[in-house]
Amino acid sequence: MSIVNGPTPDSDETFLDDVASLKSRVRAHTDPGRKPLGQDDNTEESQDGGGGRTRRGRPPLTRVQSSRDIDIVERTRSVDEMNRALPDMEAAYHTILSSVGEEPARQGLLKTPSRAAKALMFFTKGYQEDLHEVVSDAIFDEDCDEMVIVRDIELFSLCEHHLVPFIGKISVGYLPNKKVLGLSKIARIVEMYSRRLQVQERLTKQIALALSEAIQPAGVAVVCEATHMCMVMRGVQKLNSKTVTSCMLGVFREDPKTREEFLTLARG
Ligand SMILES: [Zn+2]
Repeated sequence: MSIVNGPTPDSDETFLDDVASLKSRVRAHTDPGRKPLGQDDNTEESQDGGGGRTRRGRPPLTRVQSSRDIDIVERTRSVDEMNRALPDMEAAYHTILSSVGEEPARQGLLKTPSRAAKALMFFTKGYQEDLHEVVSDAIFDEDCDEMVIVRDIELFSLCEHHLVPFIGKISVGYLPNKKVLGLSKIARIVEMYSRRLQVQERLTKQIALALSEAIQPAGVAVVCEATHMCMVMRGVQKLNSKTVTSCMLGVFREDPKTREEFLTLARG
């Protein structure tokens, strides 16, 4: 697992610093002596995910890059940072109300900027969590090699292109390799990645990769089915269209029979 500081969109200087940081961190994390997730080595995460800030006063974007080149974005917001950001966000919602042709001072809208800001912070609370914290006390050594499936985990996320919801369900399966993860933690991983700005394809991969990072199973399978409000309420306005994405790793990718078993069980 490698952790790097990604670029902030508004600063080339910070970006270049981050590229240098990325290179050194990738080197640091190729150290074979590094402990796997679930053990006590969380210094990297606490340095970057806990509350470090760039010189522009923004939290750094911390990423876990897998060997498959898919980023697992880790914690980029602390509770303090969320609270500090609320007034700016409320002001922005005030502007949005005026912009749509409303009168922000009318009674029904007086508290709307505050409510909307808090709601958006809740919808994106996944930025306040990281994988290490979510799974660290729930990884167990177990000599089990039977498929584990958690089916139909509810999913509420926000499309990063339109900031409108997509909702659906996710089924996650894995084939253990000497370690199992507490079952509720699979739902927590889904929650952590879905409560961010997302595209469904990336969400599906992040969940699979996170589980893979956490317990190094023989394989992971994730299937996600969701309805996107940006397709239902605007654009093509297709009420019943569903988008299905999947990510298969390890034996689920290599062995059609294992994959088929998962898909049958996941369908119910
Ligand atoms: Zn969208």
